[in-house]
Amino acid sequence: MRWIRKRRISEQCISKSWISKRWIKRRWLGGSSLFLLTIFLAMLALLLSAAPAEKHLSVYSTVANYSLPIMQRQGRDYVGLLELLEPLGTVSAKLDGSRWRLHYNNILGEFNNGKNRARIQGRDADLSAKFLLENGRGLVPLSSLDSLLPRFLGGPATLHAESGRLFIGNIATHFTATVATDDPSRLVFRFTAPVNPSVAAEPGKLHLTFTHEPLTAPASPTLTFSSKTIPAATYSENNGAAEITVTTTIPLMASFSNDGRSITLVPAKSQPAAAASIKPPTSAPVAQNSPTPPPQSGVPSAPRRYFAVIDASHGGSDRGEALSSTLAEKDVTVAFARRLRQELESRGISTLVLRDSDANLSLDDRAFFANSTHAAVYIVIHAASSGHGIRLYTAMLPYADGEDRGPFHPWSTAQSFYMPFSQAAAASVAAELRKDQISVRTLTAPLRPLNNVVSAAIAVEVAPPSSDVSSLLAPDYEQLIAGAVANGIVAIRSQLGAAP
Ligand SMILES: [Zn+2]
Repeated sequence: MRWIRKRRISEQCISKSWISKRWIKRRWLGGSSLFLLTIFLAMLALLLSAAPAEKHLSVYSTVANYSLPIMQRQGRDYVGLLELLEPLGTVSAKLDGSRWRLHYNNILGEFNNGKNRARIQGRDADLSAKFLLENGRGLVPLSSLDSLLPRFLGGPATLHAESGRLFIGNIATHFTATVATDDPSRLVFRFTAPVNPSVAAEPGKLHLTFTHEPLTAPASPTLTFSSKTIPAATYSENNGAAEITVTTTIPLMASFSNDGRSITLVPAKSQPAAAASIKPPTSAPVAQNSPTPPPQSGVPSAPRRYFAVIDASHGGSDRGEALSSTLAEKDVTVAFARRLRQELESRGISTLVLRDSDANLSLDDRAFFANSTHAAVYIVIHAASSGHGIRLYTAMLPYADGEDRGPFHPWSTAQSFYMPFSQAAAASVAAELRKDQISVRTLTAPLRPLNNVVSAAIAVEVAPPSSDVSSLLAPDYEQLIAGAVANGIVAIRSQLGAAP
């Protein structure tokens, strides 16, 4: 994946603000208008994520925010050390019998299967439980991370072990909450960095859930306000996310302003005309109560012919990454795309391969063609020569430019409405890959054309199973990956199909 390589080189010098800007809110209706729609979408997201939650570690750092699965071994929580360090620098690992040697930038760590003691740069490091080797993967106990990581990273790491959140370096977003002085029915949250929580309402409560932000607790987890309608809010953390739960006696809406640094909760009855055409959420299942989708520029409504569109990245004069002296990424991606179509169709999913030849399509063309099919899911394939297993990407939307376009989404953030569907699709595919013991990580990236696609949209980056790059084309491996990806799509088929 050529684009990713570039980013990984440059990300070392990316400032904290760059990352936080990329995480900030998506503007559903532009400007700082009130967001009943956001609440509705958040409820959709909640419904979509209602599947049993896998345990996750969310990692916050100045170069990337990402999450990893937490595995239970011998009654303890473990994470893969290579997967944890990989987004932060240059990592490689070598297995030598029961010894596992990991290089992170210039730091060498030596671990032994079943041993509590490791050596990092020749000095002892005690782990809180045994180091484990599994199929060549090195697993370390979660509770060792705040002592282990500083030895590799040269800076502090703060672990919230109970809630699965890891803060690397001095990264934290703080907040205050105050009742507006002129109107006690309004509660104003102010954040030290832009935030983009999901917002969900239930009778008597409004939940703001922060998965991508290093939000940290206020001095007291319970905040009380001198307001009859909003008496209190509580802060909590659970499974890789922070949550603010607001207690209220009336329905509330969330309004984002100040470039995502402020959220104002106001009584829902004062909703503006702009949001009035959006049906309020009800308790009906999603499939029976599809929302009116926001109009998408340039995309007429039409019946769905294909459920899935697969895009083989690169092509023609764009060869993608030179995986070896003879193997170009563009050839691997088209082979995988065809295999995936076969796997999907054998499971009853009608599928179109967008690039089924050596054509060179622009990113805009790819998004335009994908959108014009009205498929429920768009899957773009990339391949990489290094790393191992699969990386799954969903869009990271560009910083909104503040221009109010009314109900029309700008092209660069066309994906915003579908983000909950994309994330649900990525989670489902990841779960199926893990069932087959395939190493997988889910990430967000400003990877075009994901942000231009008006359906669930994911990128699948395939790395070789071994150091031999040509094994990318091994039929067994292709079959294994394509089969698991197809199972992941099938598992979430009804939810994706319910998307407008
Ligand atoms: Zn690529």
